[in-house]
Amino acid sequence: MSDWKTRTNLVHGGTRRSQYNEVSEAIFLTQGFVYDSAEQAEARFIETGPDEFIYARYGNPTVAMFEERIALLEGAEDAFATASGMAAVNGALMSLLKAGDHVVAARALFGSCLYILEDILARFGVEITLVDGTDLDAWRAAVRSDTKVVFFESMSNPTLEVIDVAAVSEIAHSVGATVVVDNVFSTPVFSRAIDQGADVVIYSATKHIDGQGRTLGGVILGSKEYIRKTLEPYMKHTGGSMSPFNAWVMLKGLETIDLRVRAQAETAQKLAEALHGHPKLLRTIYPGLKGHAQNALVQTQLGGKGGTVLSLDIDGGKDAAFRFLNALNVAVISNNLGDAKSICTHPATTTHQRLPEDQKVELGITPGLVRFSVGLEDADDLIADLKAALDQV
Ligand SMILES: *Cc1c(COP(=O)(O)O)cnc(C)c1O
Repeated sequence: MSDWKTRTNLVHGGTRRSQYNEVSEAIFLTQGFVYDSAEQAEARFIETGPDEFIYARYGNPTVAMFEERIALLEGAEDAFATASGMAAVNGALMSLLKAGDHVVAARALFGSCLYILEDILARFGVEITLVDGTDLDAWRAAVRSDTKVVFFESMSNPTLEVIDVAAVSEIAHSVGATVVVDNVFSTPVFSRAIDQGADVVIYSATKHIDGQGRTLGGVILGSKEYIRKTLEPYMKHTGGSMSPFNAWVMLKGLETIDLRVRAQAETAQKLAEALHGHPKLLRTIYPGLKGHAQNALVQTQLGGKGGTVLSLDIDGGKDAAFRFLNALNVAVISNNLGDAKSICTHPATTTHQRLPEDQKVELGITPGLVRFSVGLEDADDLIADLKAALDQV
């Protein structure tokens, strides 16, 4: 299977068939597995083979198919599927850290990631240093001999700053730290974070992997040694495993992820180019635009693709942003991303509401900023919808 190209692996990778030889992957909706004998049960608890299962919190055949398929896409040795993206972030960090350790993280993080770092890990004696993720000198100045983990979103939400995975990994590895990358906005289609130096990669499968806004899920990818020796004991004893039904939805999502994400990114590029310089906009933020601050890095790190999300800073603050949102006809107002349906969000009053005003300013989350997750609709309909809504501002 590893000889196959990406699209073939996305359709066939990891497939396990039951005695019925079904074509579509089966959903093994079972918590447990029957042993042939007491001796077999004893042996399985001592050592579990690759196609042997004990309990769904530890592993399940449908979940294992999803883990194998996403590992093939990412080019990772192994993967562990989780109940949500946040269970993945929490599991990756908690499995690596103990009291007295130091973490360096990029400041522009998803609110729940910041909560894990600043509210939970800090409470257990882990010291956190936040830096501007795009400033390599800031990373160099922040890492220390006791830095155990370096953590960042390779493309930040919602201001779409792109962080240099290879350069930050080199800085982290110089002090022996493990590099954990939340790669949701870069997507597993465009990013090769492990090839570029990351040790552990995390996805919220809720986003592009499902791709149709149905289920929650997450995944942690890394070396076999890390996934099975360090992460699996933490996950299987704390209960953040993915459900077999959700794994089946995610497997079906992987079959089409390459086609969907490439189409969404192509439309996002068209939208960004059509709106760039619009008189009602202070800024059009899209990593695929030549004028984006990290566009050169987008060429080398993401194969020139700017992703499936753009952010628009509407002149006139919150009132203007709300008038724009309320005038949209094709795109819906919600907070998921990577969905087949285009989704528009006002971060300052929803996803990032909890942040104090000064932090919003520091992160560029202005009152006029809207985040637009590009779906699978026709680009011309979306451009017309966005322009008509801007006319209402
Ligand atoms: C959505 C998201 C998460 C959390 O994922 P859930 O599946 O909602 O738990 C984490 N990081 C990023 C960048 C996200 O966009």
